[in-house]
Amino acid sequence: MNRPHLEQLLGQLNQPRFRFKQLFQAVYKDGAESFASVQTLPKVLREALAQEPTSTLEPIHSALSKDGTIKTIFELSDGLQIEAVMIPNKNNRTVCVSCQVGCAMKCAFCATGTMGIKRSLTADEIIDQVVYCNNLLRSKKEKVTNVVYMGMGEPMNNLKAVLESIQVLHDADGLGIGARKISVSTSGVVPGIKSIIDFPLQINLALSLHAPNDELRSKIMPVNKMFPLKVLMEACHAYVQKTNRKLMFEYVMLQGVNDSLELAVELRDLAKPFVPLMQVNLIPFHPSSVDFTPTERKHILAFQKVLREANIPTTIRHSAGVDIAGACGQLALDTSTSGYSCLK
Ligand code: SAH
Ligand code: SF4
Repeated sequence: MNRPHLEQLLGQLNQPRFRFKQLFQAVYKDGAESFASVQTLPKVLREALAQEPTSTLEPIHSALSKDGTIKTIFELSDGLQIEAVMIPNKNNRTVCVSCQVGCAMKCAFCATGTMGIKRSLTADEIIDQVVYCNNLLRSKKEKVTNVVYMGMGEPMNNLKAVLESIQVLHDADGLGIGARKISVSTSGVVPGIKSIIDFPLQINLALSLHAPNDELRSKIMPVNKMFPLKVLMEACHAYVQKTNRKLMFEYVMLQGVNDSLELAVELRDLAKPFVPLMQVNLIPFHPSSVDFTPTERKHILAFQKVLREANIPTTIRHSAGVDIAGACGQLALDTSTSGYSCLK
């Protein structure tokens, strides 16, 4: 919901402060789809707010994968589009949210990067992606348990709204999502990492590393020219030391680009000083409009072995849903090849 607008409206209607909390609970916690239906509000207020939307987003397309993953495209009030993905697994219901329309960082392998940046989302536009997914789960008596900022956009380039959205999603009067169930992923914007260190909530941080040396990283991730590995690793060490929390290194496997066993050795040496407060996640590349080839499974396993032999915890992301969630920006670009069937 558009919180600043509704707060202003309540002020104009001379409503006491607790009315805002009632709206907050009704929309976020109870999933009210109209203010007219909120029985805790006096009739006069229900009537005054009847025409006000409860969401800043309009879902325009949803798609369901075989493993239960649901990807939704939303239209914003200015007509731009974003997407969110709900990924169910055994115990968790994870929502992958977008924080910008497009992205300015231009990583060579990323479909969102090729779009350029249109604008950043407001905190409410981020929150409402999670609220929408939570409402989808409501009929099955399930709830969103985890939120990852791994959709479209670079969270550190929209940090104020991202941190505000985290505070609201964590609020016990709303969705009450545990801080440790919330993860922010960055391409390596160092000042943003420093802000996460000082943020009062114990959220998780993932670093999209994708290359273990400056030469290669600058080639595939232009952000590396601004914040090279030495500076980036210093910020990562500060994060681990000050928060005592685990850092995730994300590494998308691009055939013939960053997947040689020599590079696995370099990655091992970079990651080693962080053990045990770290984990490497090898992400199978999800083919998209950009011109890269996924590394073969057999070779990903060989790459993983180099890391594991040095006692570096290393996982390979398996499920189709997670792969597609990692492949940010894809459904918006191409719905036909993503393995999804249409709901709408
Ligand atoms: N901008 C942030 C968060 C969004 S991207 C970041 O870069 O960390 C989320 C993850 O998906 C990143 O690790 C990104 O590198 C990865 N990714 C992008 N395109 C992908 C693709 N086609 N296949 C697999 N992972 C991809
Ligand atoms: Fe932006 Fe992340 Fe995609 Fe890079 S990988 S272009 S930072 S969304």
